[in-house]
Amino acid sequence: MSERIELLPEHVANQIAAGEVVQRPASVVKELLENAIDAGGTEIQLIVKEGGKTLIQVVDNGAGMNRADAELSVVRHATSKIRKAEDLFEIHTMGFRGEALASIAAIARLDLQTRNGKDDLGTHLKMMGGTRESVEETVIPQGTSISVKNLFFNIPARRNFLKSSKVEFRHVLEEFQRVALAHPEVSFKMTHNDAQFLNIPESNLRRRIVNLFGSRMNDQLVPVGEETQVVRVGGFICKPEYAKKSRGMQFFFVNNRFVKNPYLHHAIMNAYEGLLRPDTLPGYFIFLEVPPDTIDINIHPTKTEIKFENEQTVYAILRSAVKHSLGQFNIRPVLDFDSDPNLETPYNLRNQQVTRPQIEVDRNFNPFSEGTGNPLKGKPYSRKEEGSWTALYEGLGEGQYREGEGSHWVVESETSSQALFQEDTLDSLTEVTSFQVDRKFILTRVKSGLLLIDQQRAHQRVLYEQFLENISQKEPASQILLFPLHLPFDPMDLAILREMQESLKALGFQMEFETETGITISALPVLIPEAQVGNVLEDLLTNWKEQLGSEGYSEADRMARLLSRALSIRPGRTLDTTSRQALIDDLFACKESERSPFNKKIYATFGVDELEKKLH
Ligand code: ADP
Ligand code: MG
Repeated sequence: MSERIELLPEHVANQIAAGEVVQRPASVVKELLENAIDAGGTEIQLIVKEGGKTLIQVVDNGAGMNRADAELSVVRHATSKIRKAEDLFEIHTMGFRGEALASIAAIARLDLQTRNGKDDLGTHLKMMGGTRESVEETVIPQGTSISVKNLFFNIPARRNFLKSSKVEFRHVLEEFQRVALAHPEVSFKMTHNDAQFLNIPESNLRRRIVNLFGSRMNDQLVPVGEETQVVRVGGFICKPEYAKKSRGMQFFFVNNRFVKNPYLHHAIMNAYEGLLRPDTLPGYFIFLEVPPDTIDINIHPTKTEIKFENEQTVYAILRSAVKHSLGQFNIRPVLDFDSDPNLETPYNLRNQQVTRPQIEVDRNFNPFSEGTGNPLKGKPYSRKEEGSWTALYEGLGEGQYREGEGSHWVVESETSSQALFQEDTLDSLTEVTSFQVDRKFILTRVKSGLLLIDQQRAHQRVLYEQFLENISQKEPASQILLFPLHLPFDPMDLAILREMQESLKALGFQMEFETETGITISALPVLIPEAQVGNVLEDLLTNWKEQLGSEGYSEADRMARLLSRALSIRPGRTLDTTSRQALIDDLFACKESERSPFNKKIYATFGVDELEKKLH
């Protein structure tokens, strides 16, 4: 790279497709990071406030600029990277159109400080909406620091178009990940809203992936490597069993530049054929190297799309390289695709009772009263109220009754028959109003027939509404831990937890981020058992990453959903009489009892008519 900056001749400038460089804060992040890399920076720092809406700053220890270059750098088509249009096909640096800084300077406040290795003093240049405010000498270390404030301040329409800071921050993070993956040899620090978000050392690609996506990645990665005349393939793919339902970990780099390419994505999916669960996507970090004159990377203004001269050959080579890796590392599909992943989740509530809600819902609401649209019409079963169902028990002495006996369902109600016996003696038969079927459903009698409830979905609904209730309270119900709990986390996860901090607080978490290796929790939402907190946070983190770049429900709502899923009782869990009744009561005290937070049907009713028909 030559030191001097020259203006591109007009006709060359016109040959370069000039598009909109800056769509959102993330675009600025991308341009500044790429410039820092092009300048040979080995330590790069990214500082962002409010998702980049108020501040984006990139500090590097690269070559820096002299005063004349600094002044030219913010002029359109000023670049030190190409001289003529043909150079476009030979470039190895990241930026090349010489318009990023000029575009950014035109729509924000830009503050540039830079010093090269030769000069003793650096240059401090201030730009505001495209006009120069000042140029001064300044004492700074070698390298460049560019800060961009108040993006789109002079284009209100664009500014209003920006999404929430959280959403913008995810886009920033996405760009950051792309640059960081392509340059494991550079160390990066990232700060968001004055808190350190990431600090990742220089390393190799594998470690970089782990640093960015968590230590669990280490077991999932399989190297890919293939060398041909047309293309060199390198990088990692993820084992098929870790494929996810959402996008977020698919990365292609061509000549170390991040690109999107549906055609090559297809090649990879093709290689995985037969190994993936339906609707899942494998993670991949693929680096392709091709002779620069066999690609056209300038077909898209933001340079993420690419055209290959030998597209079909590249496709075939990539597919075979991935296939080869999948085969070589003896990766077989997890055969048991249909198994319920819930069953594998360690579940520590096994011997605890379902918690009754701590929150009063509607004192006047009687789920059993007529006319509520509630299937539990009439009172719960009691002996005084003779019905056809009670006849089943006739002749059974009190205390002798065992749930399940005399019934053709596999009914597993209690963990110990002794407890059952005692309980039934105490409660007397009159209280027995429900059965558990296959440790999955609760069957209970309603006036007009039977009611079959999915225990997990019912519990999800109950928990979900309780969490929402908790969030809406000023002082969320939380339990102070006797001994604060220290949980280790990777830098990336820690950073995300920091992002979620506010919502976690609203739920009733109290936590400290003292170290760079983990968090200390001093209080928990009452609904979360201490033993579960690790799993619950993992769940939230995974989901956060999967939501990268997507919008949807509010964060609080999403968390309530996730927590309800993480904490709900699973199929296979035995529920005693009291728990079953509590769950039924809680369910029908919910604002919405028919659908789970994931929009699944919670229960079905079987009218007497239907039952009679069955016996015809
Ligand atoms: P491009 O990167 O396409 O050349 P930019 O507008 O991004 O255009 O940058 C213009 C010029 O400013 C670059 O060519 C480079 O010479 C100089 N420059 C920008 N950022 C830096 C930096 N961080 N360190 C040194 N020089 C830089
Ligand atoms: Mg650039």
